[in-house]
Amino acid sequence: MTQEQWGALQDRLCKTIGENNYKTWIKPLSYDGITDGVAVFEVPTNFMGTYVSQNYGDLLLSQLTSVETDIRRIQFKVANADRPRGQAPAKAKPAAGVSDLLPSAPLESKFTFDTFVVGKPNELAHAAARRVAEGGPVSFNPLFLYGGVGLGKTHLMHAISWELRHRNPELNVLYLSAEQFMYRFVQALRERRMMDFKELFRSVDVLMVDDVQFIAGKDSTQEEFFHTFNALVDQNKQIIISGDRAPDEIKDMENRIRSRLQSGLVVDLHPTDYELRLGILQTKVEAQKALYPDLDIDTGVLEFLAHRISTNVRVLEGALTRLFAFASLIGKRITMDLTQDCLADVLRASERKISIDEIQRRVAEHYNIRLSDMIGPKRVRNYARPRQVAMFLCKQMTSRSLPEIGRRFGGRDHTTVMHGVKRIEELKIQDGQIAEDLELLRRSLEA
Ligand code: ADP
Ligand code: MG
Repeated sequence: MTQEQWGALQDRLCKTIGENNYKTWIKPLSYDGITDGVAVFEVPTNFMGTYVSQNYGDLLLSQLTSVETDIRRIQFKVANADRPRGQAPAKAKPAAGVSDLLPSAPLESKFTFDTFVVGKPNELAHAAARRVAEGGPVSFNPLFLYGGVGLGKTHLMHAISWELRHRNPELNVLYLSAEQFMYRFVQALRERRMMDFKELFRSVDVLMVDDVQFIAGKDSTQEEFFHTFNALVDQNKQIIISGDRAPDEIKDMENRIRSRLQSGLVVDLHPTDYELRLGILQTKVEAQKALYPDLDIDTGVLEFLAHRISTNVRVLEGALTRLFAFASLIGKRITMDLTQDCLADVLRASERKISIDEIQRRVAEHYNIRLSDMIGPKRVRNYARPRQVAMFLCKQMTSRSLPEIGRRFGGRDHTTVMHGVKRIEELKIQDGQIAEDLELLRRSLEA
């Protein structure tokens, strides 16, 4: 086979395996010649030789034999190999000296599926995480988990990683934050070890990248991430990504990455609701009781905390820890008074600030009308009643003045708002349906 023929064959390979794979694995090969039916290629590293032979060996051989029928075998030879003759080729694992580019970030031992409390707001994310953790055939790639701070994204990612490692210790599972991905990338650039970097990242079986929003706006890191991502997807390797918002809402993220992130299963962790918070508190209280066996906690305290503390589970946990530590220091049982004393700052900070926008949106949704109709000038009952309900809730649940509220309802006069609020106050007593609507709306806004 001539170099020209090898060139033509490379073009064909590129079409077959895709440009990314081609660039990473085939292009770096240099054709050395054929001796005794063995086609010899030079490769930059042992690892690469093993990898190409395992993954593209058959394909390569069949293509080669179409040009030169008596090729029986392919041999990969490391360029400038200083390995003693007769030594077995390296296994497909990171070679010593380059592995520092790749250690997985440490996993938190508490973040397992066992300790994850499941409720309505996170049941889908939990189910998807479980599925991926079973390590079966890759059915959605990537799995993209998103949600606000402290809702359990990292917890779920670690849980997946623990479970996969437990089920199959051989599996090369790599968990790291997008920030760490960037630092390793920069390190590889600085040390001129991009080839090592690429090989290492392409050799993992499962890649998990936490807080992907971090690389938004960081162009070359995004670019590298994109290539890593594609190479792994092409090899049918599972990828799990988390972010603080949906892929299409991450600013300064390249469109091609966004669409890649959306191409698998996207699930969000909703803000916790009262029931989930209570469930989490009940679970965590057991752990606290083990630490402080002598402490008693009054009934109602957990319910109070679940009601009053924000949706962020981290804050909730912190509050409980503080409460137990405090009570044990002063040697008293945990009462409602003690709780309010000890957690005054947390309780104040998490008082929900409900906005007029939010109220308007919820009310329109509740009555199944368009927001513009509710705020606009139409006077028919279908719109006027919900409008009054929304005004009433704005007066009750925000600290806005009547003129301010009027302005936000299409520039209405403050007397109109006052009239609306009075009307709802009356109806609340006379009309069971309105009373129920108000209660539902209030609860959903406070959740
Ligand atoms: P995120 O990564 O979404 O910001 P984390 O996964 O770090 O949030 O979670 C914050 C804290 O709350 C962790 O200590 C985690 O164990 C805990 N946590 C979150 N959700 C749950 C849950 N459903 N059950 C138990 N603990 C949870
Ligand atoms: Mg996190």
